[in-house]
Amino acid sequence: MSRLVLLGPPGAGKGTQAKRLAARLAVPAISTGDIFRANVAQGTELGLSAKEYMDAGKYVPDSVTNLMVRDRLAQPDATGGFILDGYPRTTDQVRELDDMLAEAGTSLTAVLELTADTDELVRRLTLRAGTEGRSDDAEGVVRTRQQVYLEQTAPLVEVYSTRGLLHSVDGLGAVEEVTARLEQVLAQAADADAPPAGDAQAG
Ligand code: ADP
Repeated sequence: MSRLVLLGPPGAGKGTQAKRLAARLAVPAISTGDIFRANVAQGTELGLSAKEYMDAGKYVPDSVTNLMVRDRLAQPDATGGFILDGYPRTTDQVRELDDMLAEAGTSLTAVLELTADTDELVRRLTLRAGTEGRSDDAEGVVRTRQQVYLEQTAPLVEVYSTRGLLHSVDGLGAVEEVTARLEQVLAQAADADAPPAGDAQAG
């Protein structure tokens, strides 16, 4: 069973990799950013409450985000596992997610961190501004998002590392290479969890 969180700064490639891994693992990729953007596009109440924060590069308040994720994880397609992309992003959200999963009698199986240096992140996001037209990819907003990530989300790396759940992967390189790295650490994590292999000894 795969219940995964993808962590990493804006531009590290979480969305791309979440979708690719989800297809391979046959679980839904749940992106809070995508859900917010869809709600903004449809002009829902949720979208209206999220838009001003997103356009400024700030986090949508936890009260809004947590409820939305709780709803999404309760959908039938998420009961067999999921990949969360963009949640949790604050230590409060970590606690909330712990509670949601505990209520369902489950817990996370692994947290995958995608790393990339700041120059590369800014380069990618600036490129994306030209192709996808996301209003929060303008240069000033990109800098705010990097800053907010450092202050509010980077500490989560330590939190999950302490729990022994964290696997860090270099997000630099071709999309397929990065997916292969992620699959490799997942396979290693699964091996480490498996009971000793009895008489199937190496060598
Ligand atoms: P990126 O990772 O490139 O910043 P996302 O699509 O994940 O892009 O998020 C876009 C915006 O959506 C964020 O800047 C924020 O305003 C909002 N958002 C997404 N996830 C969360 C979250 N877990 N908590 C609060 N706000 C969020």
